[in-house]
Amino acid sequence: MADGAKSGLASGTSGSPQLTLDNDELAAKAKENEAAINSTYLNDSNDIESYSERGVDIPEHIKEKLSQLQNKGDSITGSIGEFSISDVSIMSKETGVEFARVTIGGKTYLIRGDKGGTVIPNELLDEMKMHSGTLDFHSHPHNDDCVPSKSDRLMMRKLRQTTGQRESSIVTPNGRTTLFDEHGVIETGTVSSTLDDARRRALMELFGGGK
Ligand SMILES: [Zn+2]
Repeated sequence: MADGAKSGLASGTSGSPQLTLDNDELAAKAKENEAAINSTYLNDSNDIESYSERGVDIPEHIKEKLSQLQNKGDSITGSIGEFSISDVSIMSKETGVEFARVTIGGKTYLIRGDKGGTVIPNELLDEMKMHSGTLDFHSHPHNDDCVPSKSDRLMMRKLRQTTGQRESSIVTPNGRTTLFDEHGVIETGTVSSTLDDARRRALMELFGGGK
């Protein structure tokens, strides 16, 4: 890895925010330049309806985080345990984009990606390498899409070689989770969202209940 490389936070595909790279392009990019993780669905299908659109108020602490993560490549730091996997699931549902959480020492980083992937900046990868940092999890923006992409698996191979980390997780907007490594899925699960009840109530109000 290039020492001291000042990688920009964005992936360098500026110009068209809807531009999606396919897996091979992303993989090549990861090899030559920056590492990226991306979701399986690389289209513009719009199956995401944010909680806000459904009239469900999201928690203040999540709103606050999102206000600091407006653009692809933005990142914020927090203490250990901040940016929980269920919070990040909600954030993806709210925005329709990916997020990734990294932990290094006593610090966590939450990085905003876009619909097709998240770029882990080189300087953060260098920090991870020096201080045994981990890519804890990342979100995919489509319901039920918790399958690791080719780029996800290449990322895990890269991490195994550089930091020794072998496993990481994926979470979807509807709370499905996957633990995976460079070879694929290890196990699947779910996280419960505290918004489920609020969402149900909002839908009841919208559609007059019934059931
Ligand atoms: Zn992914």
